[in-house]
Amino acid sequence: MDMDKLVALCRRRGFLFQSSEIYGGLNGFWDYGPLGVELKRNIKDAWWRDMISGHNELVKPAGAPTTYEMVGLDASIIMHPQVWKCSGHFDLFCDMMVDCRETKHRYRYDQVRGRWAEYQGLKVFVTALGENEAQDIEQRAQKLFKLRAKEADKITWHGEIISLAKVEDLSKALAPEATEPGTLTAPREFNLMFKTIVGAMGGEEDAAFLRPETAQGIFVNFKNVCDSTRVRVPFGIAQVGKSFRNEITPRNFTFRSREFEQMEIEFFCHPTTSRKWYEYWRDRRMKWYTDLGLAGERLRLREHDKDELSHYSVGTADIEYAFPFLSAGEYGELEGIAHRGDFDLRSHMEGKLVKNAEGCLEVEMVDGADGKKVAKHRGSGRDLTYRDDLTNERFTPHVIEPSAGADRGTLAFLCEAYHEDQAPDDKGDMQTRTVMKFSPRIAPVKAAVFPLVKKDGMPEAAKEIYTALKKRFVTFYDEKGAVGRRYRRQDEAGTPYCITVDGQTLQDGTVTIRDRDSLEQWRIKSADVVEEIAKKVEG
Ligand code: ATP
Repeated sequence: MDMDKLVALCRRRGFLFQSSEIYGGLNGFWDYGPLGVELKRNIKDAWWRDMISGHNELVKPAGAPTTYEMVGLDASIIMHPQVWKCSGHFDLFCDMMVDCRETKHRYRYDQVRGRWAEYQGLKVFVTALGENEAQDIEQRAQKLFKLRAKEADKITWHGEIISLAKVEDLSKALAPEATEPGTLTAPREFNLMFKTIVGAMGGEEDAAFLRPETAQGIFVNFKNVCDSTRVRVPFGIAQVGKSFRNEITPRNFTFRSREFEQMEIEFFCHPTTSRKWYEYWRDRRMKWYTDLGLAGERLRLREHDKDELSHYSVGTADIEYAFPFLSAGEYGELEGIAHRGDFDLRSHMEGKLVKNAEGCLEVEMVDGADGKKVAKHRGSGRDLTYRDDLTNERFTPHVIEPSAGADRGTLAFLCEAYHEDQAPDDKGDMQTRTVMKFSPRIAPVKAAVFPLVKKDGMPEAAKEIYTALKKRFVTFYDEKGAVGRRYRRQDEAGTPYCITVDGQTLQDGTVTIRDRDSLEQWRIKSADVVEEIAKKVEG
């Protein structure tokens, strides 16, 4: 699939716009247009319904160790700065960046990729960013060595395309937009949290951060939820909301944005069953994507290797999608499912934790003013343990965290939906059409209603059906132009069903329904349209 075509469609049909476009846009920020907002909301609603509001705590789901409860939360975006000190984000939420002295551009160190090229004894690591990296690297090497296209085979290539992070001597690297090698600075740490000031006084002591993840809002409310509801471990708290990361190189459409939405669950369970719960959530979340229409061969579940795991994690898996803007064989993360042990609750009780020589977590200590050791970042001191009132056991629950990105999910569903196929036009000639094959459940518009012509009472009959449908579903009414063109517009929007009122409607009260994917058309009574659409889109 051609990513440029999808990006153009998203803009043309109102799925996605660049933020502040009339002022030239702002890198890393996106706006959802009228179709995009419906699509993303349907994805978030499906998640909320399937994971939280529709979860039946009386029935044990397949693969789950026991029954469990789920509740929701909506925490604030700006929280007490100590939250981020104890969670580790203040000290550790960094990416390594490199600057180019020539172009003044900044790059995320591990995301710049290139290949070693050699000509007449000069060996340079030639880099390129973006979709056509292999081709761009070759062209940049030719230009650097002042070779014409037909002399390209004079270049000796060493190894495959690798990350800049694997290159020891950066003075030999040609930065992505530079003309000469050796313009990159040594890598430096860059904290990804956006800083802001709370209140009118505006001193450094009033500095706060926009949350880089929604998860911490859940951990700091663990006790509130336990005390105010009757939930018992095992249970999950879920939240959907905006997160902010000052990404060094936002790119690949909405895949890496600076403002994005997350759908996160923190699932609290007993330490002895936590591994089983981890496996349950990993498989459950994978199935959710396939049920909503992400194809098997582009979607994969990848367990992290031991050396990839965070210092506190016993297991983490990513659900990944082969986005069309990535190189062949590469996948991008849609969701991470992490076994986080008791790291988060303990950090908010005791203070920021680090691993000691024995591999156990302990509070990180520094020298205090009087020479005595003090916690580097003090915890809340609150008791965030849990007492099981049946067994009387008190313990710090372990946490399983399925953390999904609503924007990356939306992007994957957009990529998956894009199809070009052949369909007859108004004269019956076959033409290429662009069709967004969303699963009806997430399609932004569920049905469109057309009068075949704008006379003979057809618009009136069509408007009546439209009004009835509109009460339950996002529906579109269109009476302009040839009916074939109206179908095409709905195909591009991904509307699964089109209902047409024609001459026969006025005689026998039936209308045609057209299926977006099979192009089949059949007649039903106008009075049955709402129930027919409900059956199809609600399952
Ligand atoms: P990456 O390695 O791609 O930066 P991550 O591992 O840091 O992602 P997490 O911290 O696990 O991501 O965040 C959970 C989810 O939030 C991700 O799976 C992704 O869907 C989403 N997400 C994270 N960063 C971004 C971003 N910059 N833009 C859009 N979505 C994001």
